[in-house]
Amino acid sequence: MEKVIGIDLGTFNSCVAVVEGGTPIVIANRGGYKTTPSMVAITEAGKRLVGHIAKRQAVTNAENTVYAAKRLIGRKFDSAQVQNAIGNAPYRIVEGPHNDPRIQLRGKVYSVPEISAMILQEMKMIAEDYLGQEVMKAVVTVPAYFNDGQRQATKDAGAIAGLDVIRIINEPTAASLAYGFGKNIDRTIAVYDLGGGTFDISIMEISSAGVFKVISTAGDTFLGGEDFDQRIIDWLVQDFQRENDIDLRQDRMALQRLKDAAEKAKCELSSVVETEVNLPFIISSARNEALHLQKLLTRGQLEELTADLVERTVQICEMTLDEAGLDKEDIEDVVLVGGMTRMPRVQQAVASFFEREPCKGVHPDEVVALGAAIQGAALVDDEHDMVLLDVTPHTLGIMVVGGYFEELIPQNSTVPISRSKIFTTVRENQTAVKILVMQGESRRADENELLGEFILTGLRRAAAGQVEIEVTFEINADGIVSVHAKDLETGKEQSITVTSTSGLTDQELDDMMTDARDYAVTMRADEEHEKAKQEAQTLIAEIEKLFPKVEEVVAGSDFGRDAIEKARAVVERAQQLMESGQTDALREQIDALARTQRMFKGVVGKIA
Ligand code: AMP
Repeated sequence: MEKVIGIDLGTFNSCVAVVEGGTPIVIANRGGYKTTPSMVAITEAGKRLVGHIAKRQAVTNAENTVYAAKRLIGRKFDSAQVQNAIGNAPYRIVEGPHNDPRIQLRGKVYSVPEISAMILQEMKMIAEDYLGQEVMKAVVTVPAYFNDGQRQATKDAGAIAGLDVIRIINEPTAASLAYGFGKNIDRTIAVYDLGGGTFDISIMEISSAGVFKVISTAGDTFLGGEDFDQRIIDWLVQDFQRENDIDLRQDRMALQRLKDAAEKAKCELSSVVETEVNLPFIISSARNEALHLQKLLTRGQLEELTADLVERTVQICEMTLDEAGLDKEDIEDVVLVGGMTRMPRVQQAVASFFEREPCKGVHPDEVVALGAAIQGAALVDDEHDMVLLDVTPHTLGIMVVGGYFEELIPQNSTVPISRSKIFTTVRENQTAVKILVMQGESRRADENELLGEFILTGLRRAAAGQVEIEVTFEINADGIVSVHAKDLETGKEQSITVTSTSGLTDQELDDMMTDARDYAVTMRADEEHEKAKQEAQTLIAEIEKLFPKVEEVVAGSDFGRDAIEKARAVVERAQQLMESGQTDALREQIDALARTQRMFKGVVGKIA
């Protein structure tokens, strides 16, 4: 049976799950961890590292180690978010050909979907190692608040990684799927998701009939654990500057160490009430003296430094409930998602706002991937009769005369959806209309985001207001938008699928897919060779150990000397093959080594 994996592609950590025998499970990576850091690095030798090994070397290779690429995906280079990241990230972000941010690592420039694809490819391999079969399909999650461009770019990342992303689902929706799976309940729940980079809150209705309906969703794609870390960093840096008159942020290595220390301190303060940040030799003074940073941080101080961040999440919860037309009492359970919900102050704020203790039964780091896997299984297996009703997080519409925004699909409408509206021409003899497709909540078009534009030409010449054009918006189950405009008289039609405005061209995508495929092939081949090498090494070690004894027994005869010479040749040949990377030949040589080992054991066994 075809396996569909569920991937939670997180800002800081990613997780992969699959449904096996009707039960969703998280797959551990080779190190035994159930989550993998969403980090990619290129070493000096040009080798690609993903996950824990990338994280471990981040301090010494900060400029070539990418983290939090999710914050850049699908965004424009000149957006505030990207500009902010340029100021803070230790790696270089440069402008790409489509006003998209790109990342420069050791002189090579990568698109953001390409970086995300490296993480997806790693998750794919983790699943393949576990399942022992190739995996081609995946359901990938994104924050509910991701706009169309960000969703498209995530799909592109999947394609580059060689995965057919059969569905993109919202993270809180996935969490509610995992929460409701097999429970047979009717319940209205809130999913509070505070991860490394984003915050999401969704109000969901779960029915025992297997319907999962998002009633309302909101969030902030720029509010997460990293902002908490940043507060600690700023606090440490300011203090250090007061004492030593040195701005640590100017030093990339120091900044990376500060980042790690801040995050570590934050996590520790979830279980202890004070911790020491200790960074010896953080920088040298003007007089070339080594300076150290040592400071005590208490849980209370951390809560003070980040109070407004926690408060902002509560305000968003309030707004979302309002929008759903619900009161706090209507919420029957609260599910916490994301690593940041381990912070006691966050849990208290949620409990106090909803006036109930959050549900403890689901693991905040794994629940999203599990939900994605459940959705994946449901999509290929008719036995799971589960319906997922997602909503569109933004209002969609077009720009009309006067620079106003005319809504076609309101925020929080259930998708898939299709809506039409009739517009008329505004000038006499107008033969073309330009349709500007936008999303956002403002009445003024220029305050909303432009998703795409197209022109419907060849309209009948007539007085102003006489030609009717029907504009239809459609959002499919992935949340991807397409728009058609039709001249009602002539039936002439134009349409676009709104692709990410910072999107990659087909040619670029093709090239990136080829690169990723080549990488996967090389990587698998390297692994195979490494495995064979280890096997050969073990056999050689055993043979070497037996040599002296065997020589003792057989050296007296020509036949024996000949056998020993042959054995030496077998070992030497295997050693050559191990170095030259010829895996197939090495495999054959392993058989020869095994025969030699058996023969040696036999000889030694006889004298024993
Ligand atoms: P996620 O994106 O869900 O993987 O969440 C990652 C974020 O959770 C990062 O900012 C982590 O620093 C944070 N995090 C992980 N564990 C803890 C913890 N025990 N206490 C506070 N924050 C944590």
